[in-house]
Amino acid sequence: MVKCAVLVVAAGRGRRFGGEVPKQYLDLNGRMVLRHSLATLASHPRIHWVRTVIHPDDRDLYDTAAQGLGILDPVHGGALRQDSVRLGLESLRDLGPDVVLIHDGARPMIDAGTISRVITALDTHSGVIPALPVADTLKRARDGIVSDTVNRAELWRAQTPQGFIYDQILSAHLTAASGPELTDDAMVLEQAGHKVALVSGTEENLKITTFDDLARVASGLTGPGEFRTGNGFDVHAFEDGDGVWLCGVHVPHSHGLKGHSDADVALHALTDAILGAISAGDIGHHFPPSDNRWKGMASHVFLSHAVNLVRGLGGRITHVDLTLICERPKVGPFRPAMQDRLSEIMGINTGRISVKATTTEGLGFTGRQEGIAAQATATVWLPG
Ligand code: MG
Repeated sequence: MVKCAVLVVAAGRGRRFGGEVPKQYLDLNGRMVLRHSLATLASHPRIHWVRTVIHPDDRDLYDTAAQGLGILDPVHGGALRQDSVRLGLESLRDLGPDVVLIHDGARPMIDAGTISRVITALDTHSGVIPALPVADTLKRARDGIVSDTVNRAELWRAQTPQGFIYDQILSAHLTAASGPELTDDAMVLEQAGHKVALVSGTEENLKITTFDDLARVASGLTGPGEFRTGNGFDVHAFEDGDGVWLCGVHVPHSHGLKGHSDADVALHALTDAILGAISAGDIGHHFPPSDNRWKGMASHVFLSHAVNLVRGLGGRITHVDLTLICERPKVGPFRPAMQDRLSEIMGINTGRISVKATTTEGLGFTGRQEGIAAQATATVWLPG
């Protein structure tokens, strides 16, 4: 089997973005841009090694992006992209790869099919690049006036990963190092007199250069989808006891709450809100009180079940808002612990979890301190 290494070039500073963080480390749907391609490359069955070329200042960001992927330690790049590639190629020498793919860290949407096409074509070619035809008519213009129409039949848009026979591209880069700057590795190989073949690329595999590109890739990952909301309401009466469960947190009180399960009125309202958002019935439908399996059950089981139903649909909970209605116990001191516990159960950030409390000014059953009511709203994103 051909031994294949991949060099991911991620040493650029991405100044065009203006911000503090280079573009390859920006968030793209919950993972860094760079991690998307590293994960795809690391899991490809025909790739033996993945090494990234980084800027020395980005080591911490890189460690986060590559965490748990089991790839080679990164190496530091140089001033120009061409220098970074040469340094990366030299660092692979001891491993003795037969072929090497060179991939741009700012192309997160590389797919296994393109990788395979490039590697396969290296059986018969010295250099291979994925490319797409040009769809638009191309004009040459001077001072805003068209001088010429370019024949697009012979023009292609080059993508990465570009594939090479390792010894040939290393020696071509070492030679090119003393010449004028070259921005593309296929060009380096062409200059050394080798031929470069094309295989088909994909429209998804675009290079992120602007914030608009990032938004385009992000929307492609999630689809347009839609947001749904659901609401839930629940009441439990007080009984003898020394505390109540609210949001999975034990709150000391002069009474307990009566119920078939642990009577966590907050988790019940929240579970119903999430079930409501995905039109999946109510908590009693999923966990009938007539079923003794749920007797005395900790209510986080119910909430986890609703969260898993959302995940099963490919959706995610974007926000929950919960209001506890009671005179006593006082909820305020427990609010941070409640948010933390809900975050843990639902797997979402505390910034997406609102816990509020109110009284009814002494009116009604909550005012008479006969029990606690809770109401909740859940906002859920579902793929289209
Ligand atoms: Mg209940």
